Amino acid sequence: MSWKEVCPYNPKLNIDVEDLYIYDTTLRDGEQTPGVCFNLEEKLNIARKLDELGIKQIELGFPAVSDREREIIKKIAEEDLNADLLVLSRALKEDIDKALYCDVDGIITFIATSPLHLKYKLHKTINEVEEMGMKAIEYAKDHDLFVAFSAEDATRTPLEDLIRIHKNAESYGADRVHIADTTGSSTPQSMYYLCSELKKNLKKAHIGVHCHNDFGFAVINSIYGVMGGARAISTTVNGLGERAGNAPLEEVVMALMVLYDLDLKLNISLLKELSKMVEEYSKVSLPVNKAIVGDRVFYHESGIHVDGVLEHPLTYEPFLPEKIGHNRGIVFGKHSGCSAVDRKLRNMGIEVSKEDLLKIVKKIKDTKEKGEDIEEEVFKKIVKEVIKENK
Ligand code: MN
Repeated sequence: MSWKEVCPYNPKLNIDVEDLYIYDTTLRDGEQTPGVCFNLEEKLNIARKLDELGIKQIELGFPAVSDREREIIKKIAEEDLNADLLVLSRALKEDIDKALYCDVDGIITFIATSPLHLKYKLHKTINEVEEMGMKAIEYAKDHDLFVAFSAEDATRTPLEDLIRIHKNAESYGADRVHIADTTGSSTPQSMYYLCSELKKNLKKAHIGVHCHNDFGFAVINSIYGVMGGARAISTTVNGLGERAGNAPLEEVVMALMVLYDLDLKLNISLLKELSKMVEEYSKVSLPVNKAIVGDRVFYHESGIHVDGVLEHPLTYEPFLPEKIGHNRGIVFGKHSGCSAVDRKLRNMGIEVSKEDLLKIVKKIKDTKEKGEDIEEEVFKKIVKEVIKENK
């Protein structure tokens, strides 16, 4: 049995997975979620787990934030991790010096390019900003860092500025240029358009996309970015990040692997565990129906679904939960059907008549409709009552 079954009309992504980079920023943008602050042990555990998963690049933090942040990053950089370790730097020499102090493999250096940010935040012209960006790239490349140059608020920046600046960034040695959808205000079509226009103008620098989830588009925008020629996707575990967060790692990974059939060569059996770890450390709890990793996304109650799943899980699941270290559950309630109840009874070593089975199912529905959850004890009580009635 295959572990997944999807819509046969899904398009193929004709890309070489060797060239595709997922760079996870749980430890930087994820930590910028209001109220979240990871300590050394937590950052270290998350970094190790991301590494075990097989993520190629991990953004560890923003060294300019504090002395403590710098020490934490430096400590993690001393670990023997396979992933390339990156940090965020403004387009300032002092920030890059702090990255160098941390002894990481590379930086993501950013500066805003949209008219809104230029006028109200930076109080600079586009030319001044461009010059700062290029100086930062030059300085970082002189120190042998991997350099991703990120145009902050790129999706609200005039195309001619974006193309000129990114071409220039490439000529200064940037290994990658990022389109940051800082306010999550692009659509899949615009992300596709921006990436493909940019790709036409670059010789060898890769394009990365950093998508925010303000409209719930972060995952699909990232995938359309890849369709348009991007080869790096920014993610965070559980979709943590500023405001509505970033593209959730688990959703990007599973969409690419299941829906688009790409073999990312990741140890996805760790996904549920990683999500739980980040949920605990961040204290940002997930809804039980959060895509991919929510506690109850593989739970079934209605009779028709339970019957189907018990015969073949893929009737009502797109992939097998155990592949990501998750589990399936059967819940009893208003929508329960006879065969799920019968199967549970048989598992408990109890055989009942057709008539009693119907009575038990009716009682389960009544109990739930009166507001009581059908926990194990409640289930047993109902069964006992029905059997007793017959004596
Ligand atoms: Mn961001």
